Amino acid sequence: MSPMHSNGPIGNYDLVKKINMEHAISTILKYRPLSRAKIASLTGLNKMTVSSCVDLFVQKGFVVELGTTGTSRGRPPTLVDLNEKAGICVGIDVEINQFTVLVTDLLGKKLDSMIIPLQSKDPFFFVDAISGILRKLEKDHAQRQLGIVGVGIVIPGYYNIRTDVVDYSANLQEWNDFPLRSELAKRVPGLTVHVNPASYAGAMGEVHFGGAKAADHLVYVTSSWGLSVGVYSKGELFTGTTGTAGRLGHSTIHMNGKKCTCGSRGCWEMYASIKALYELLETTPQEMTIADIVAGIERGDSRITSSVHELGHYQGIGLANVINAYNPRVICIGGLLALLGPTLINSIWNTLREMIPARFLLGLEIYCSDLGELGVAHGGVSMVLRQLSTTIIENSLMG
Ligand SMILES: [Zn+2]
Repeated sequence: MSPMHSNGPIGNYDLVKKINMEHAISTILKYRPLSRAKIASLTGLNKMTVSSCVDLFVQKGFVVELGTTGTSRGRPPTLVDLNEKAGICVGIDVEINQFTVLVTDLLGKKLDSMIIPLQSKDPFFFVDAISGILRKLEKDHAQRQLGIVGVGIVIPGYYNIRTDVVDYSANLQEWNDFPLRSELAKRVPGLTVHVNPASYAGAMGEVHFGGAKAADHLVYVTSSWGLSVGVYSKGELFTGTTGTAGRLGHSTIHMNGKKCTCGSRGCWEMYASIKALYELLETTPQEMTIADIVAGIERGDSRITSSVHELGHYQGIGLANVINAYNPRVICIGGLLALLGPTLINSIWNTLREMIPARFLLGLEIYCSDLGELGVAHGGVSMVLRQLSTTIIENSLMG
């Protein structure tokens, strides 16, 4: 909007048009497919306004009109739907030694995925590798009206939303203070890039694609080698001032406990992560893989199940704090811990029932994520999809 118009009648007209479009497109995304009349009744907009918005979306190719299949006499209304082929979303899950790229359509349906080894921990290695992939995707999908709608990068650490640099990654310290988004923008300009920690992306992925679809209040605990928490409440993630809220893996559960990498003692993640499980089992991932542990649970191996029970007990102590702080409806366990399934969940419940009065546990659901190895990358895609209506409006208003 030009400054000349910002206070005049045209400025107001543009703003009203934008707000109407926002209502129309978010209603289509939420209730698709539906008729123009239904959009009008759901939004309270008049039918002419709805039709002019929808016509523009159709003309731009972002929305399609579905053929009517009604057999009744009289003309059944034409339904409108999102054109899921109008663009692609890219979700990237960066781990310590590899990164996974997931390409989806605008409904989040997988079109392609690939795993690339992170041969060097130098952040420039990643930026160069992912730039090449994104440029190729831009070329391969150039015929789609919106091209690459956005890129959601999930990192094993935090991203400072104030200074726009990697804040802290305990397991990928070479990336600390790295301006990931601006370095990427130098190589592939014009892309919308979101960077988030695995706990936030995991929470959004569960809401969008996983078992937490109807949850208004969700806590997602991601635990592999570290442990962190993502809090989702009524459509928003709780990020804190700089985007590092949820470092609960470093809340103290033992005053004089084990020394942690963060410098403190007795941190929750020292007792309730996969790292802790290996300590309890007195073994290493080289000697016993996660798959071996899962197989051990299934065949009732007493040493393995008792270690998982102990882990679940500590998981429960930390979760009691989480429940008291956030009053969630759903708690989802993600990361490698999710593979431990009901054995872990049962132990968590046993501890919670000892620690918290029953009334505060009413209606609470705790489950392990079943999104599997692409779960976190799906979280990256959901970061892009939650901005989809804005992207469609911006592109509708162009040219
Ligand atoms: Zn710590």
